[in-house]
Amino acid sequence: MNKREFLKAAGFASLGLAILPMYQCQSKSDDLENNEEDDKDNRAPFKLPELGFSYSALEPNIDAETMEIHYNKHHGGYVKKLNKAVNESDYKDKSLREILGEVSENEDDNDLRNNAGGHFNHTLFWEILLPGGSKKPNGKLLKKINEDFGSFEKFKTDFSKMALEVFGSGWTWLCVDKDQNLFIVNTENQDNPLMHKIAMKKGTPILGVDIWEHAYYLKYQNERKKYIVNIFNIINWDVVGSNFEKNIK
Ligand code: MN
Repeated sequence: MNKREFLKAAGFASLGLAILPMYQCQSKSDDLENNEEDDKDNRAPFKLPELGFSYSALEPNIDAETMEIHYNKHHGGYVKKLNKAVNESDYKDKSLREILGEVSENEDDNDLRNNAGGHFNHTLFWEILLPGGSKKPNGKLLKKINEDFGSFEKFKTDFSKMALEVFGSGWTWLCVDKDQNLFIVNTENQDNPLMHKIAMKKGTPILGVDIWEHAYYLKYQNERKKYIVNIFNIINWDVVGSNFEKNIK
C-alpha cells in the first residue's frame, strides 16, 4: 500500500490531498472548506486505517501494549460505533468532514459527535507519528512557526504547556485558521476544531496529540509531562508540514 492508498484507506483525505481548481476556491466564502473535494469519498462504512508501523515501533516513547489496545480497542471501537450511529441517522450520505462540521451539542448528536471525532482524531494521530521522528519542521511550516510563535522551541513550550492544561480527557492541536495562521488549542473528549457548531476556536488540525489517559497511562501513569516531552521524539514533521501546505494558498 503506498502513502496515497494508506491515506485513502485511513479516510484521511479530509486533510486535503489535492488543490481545488481556482474557480472553486474563489467561490468559497470560508477557507476552512477548501479541502472538501478530497473528503467526498470518505463516507460510511468507515474503516480502521492501517498503521504505517508496528505496535512496538514507537518504543520507548509509546509502548507496544498501549499501541495495540489504543489502535484496536479504542480507535476500532470508535469506527464501529461511528458506522452504527451514521446508519441510524440522517448523515448516511455525508462525508466524515461534513459530519464533523454539522454535529451539534444536541444530545441526539452525541454518538456521532464522539465517534466521528474519535475516528478523525486517531487517524490524524497515527499519521503524524513516526518511529524515530523527524527532528524538526522545515520549509514553509518552520517559517510560519517562527513567525507565529517566535521559534520552534517556543512553539514546543507553548504546545506542551497547553497539553498539560487539558482537564480530564481531550486533545491538544496545532491548527491552521481561516486566515492561514497557526494556533494551538485544546478540545474536550473527542471534539476537534473542525466541529464548527461546537468548537470555541475553528480551524483545520495539522497535528494532534491524544491527551486521554488511555494514550499513556500504562507506561507513564500520572506523569503526563514525560509523555508530552517524549511525544516530540516521534512526530513526523514532514507529514505535519505537508498538512500545513495543503491548507494554505
Ligand atoms: Mn485515544
